[in-house]
Amino acid sequence: MVDYIGVSDVQRLVGTQGPGVFIERLAAQIEADYRRWDAFDKSARVASHSAVGVIELMPTSDGELYSFKYVNGHPTNTAAGLLTVTAFGVLADVATGYPLLLSELTVTTALRTAATSAMAARHLARPDSRVMALIGNGAQSEFQAIAFYRLLGIRELRLFDVDGAATAKLAANLADMADMADLRIVRCASTQDACQGADIVTTVTADKRNAVILTPPMVRAGMHLNAVGGDCPGKTELHADVLTMPGARVFVEYSPQSRIEGEIQQMPADFPATELADLLRGRAPGRTSPADITIFDSVGFALEDYSALRFLHQLLQEEDGSLRRRIDLVPRLANPKDLYGGTLAGVARRPALRRAG
Ligand code: NAD
Repeated sequence: MVDYIGVSDVQRLVGTQGPGVFIERLAAQIEADYRRWDAFDKSARVASHSAVGVIELMPTSDGELYSFKYVNGHPTNTAAGLLTVTAFGVLADVATGYPLLLSELTVTTALRTAATSAMAARHLARPDSRVMALIGNGAQSEFQAIAFYRLLGIRELRLFDVDGAATAKLAANLADMADMADLRIVRCASTQDACQGADIVTTVTADKRNAVILTPPMVRAGMHLNAVGGDCPGKTELHADVLTMPGARVFVEYSPQSRIEGEIQQMPADFPATELADLLRGRAPGRTSPADITIFDSVGFALEDYSALRFLHQLLQEEDGSLRRRIDLVPRLANPKDLYGGTLAGVARRPALRRAG
């Protein structure tokens, strides 16, 4: 039998510790896995584009466990009452190839994306960062807010979205979080306004085009930019000139994928970009001065989903077994060479033979 984690299971697994602690523990797991970078199979994800969105497959393996995620990105979905991003994934045993876990990854993607953003920012942002602009207040935004409150010590969030209802939703959800009572929430009139006084700017907008959310006049020396929403070809958020501002340094997850999908798709193929794994393993410098503009050009990499699936699976195994849901995704056979006999023979036996038997 294969373990199954649905949305209600993720609600329980996150709920028992709270989203802040969950994201903090997941960030530690993701960081530990990035430090094992050489152990992983790496490839740019396989993307199937349409006029309105993209469907992607994201595989990786460390030789013991294999994982993949199915994920979509359809920015116009919300107008039809659907999520922009949905996902599910599988964790499997490399030794046998058997799936161990089938899991929802829609909520989990938001958790792991926020965890990765905050983990990167902890290494790149100025340590005295307390104010963050949050541009794009849709499905991912609460998760980013929680992660940066918890891991970075952000105490003022400056919100902007072209959809005022999205900002109202985010502000209401944040006001409801009992353990973030000292968070100051400021609703802003524009991205420019939101960036005033910000130490960190998170862009997490959805629009399938080369959007220009941030331009150089909005960016100050010393800022950290967490650019999350630009994550496939033709879908970016930063004006290309932001990437070449004096003191600007770009950090990416997996360079071959980020050059196709990230903000740096706008730049020549040899544009300098440091991989997180090199930063985390001390092979490349991070912020070198309080005036640097550090840019995390996030697109989402398969390793983060591997970490999340493994973390969820561990939590499931630590729980009371009665809560564990298992599904018959793979046949269990007395004789593994008799797949037919162990599965279909009983239902497909011919009536004549059944009588004779
Ligand atoms: P969503 O549709 O729920 O929210 C996006 C919000 O952006 C909407 O409220 C929309 O009104 C707002 N927006 C669009 N254009 C804007 C603009 N010019 N200025 C201000 N706000 C604007 O989507 P979501 O699930 O929150 O995802 C946000 C983005 O993050 C998507 O593009 C998605 O593909 C991306 N994403 C990236 C990663 C990653 O790992 N990097 C992971 C998950 C999602």
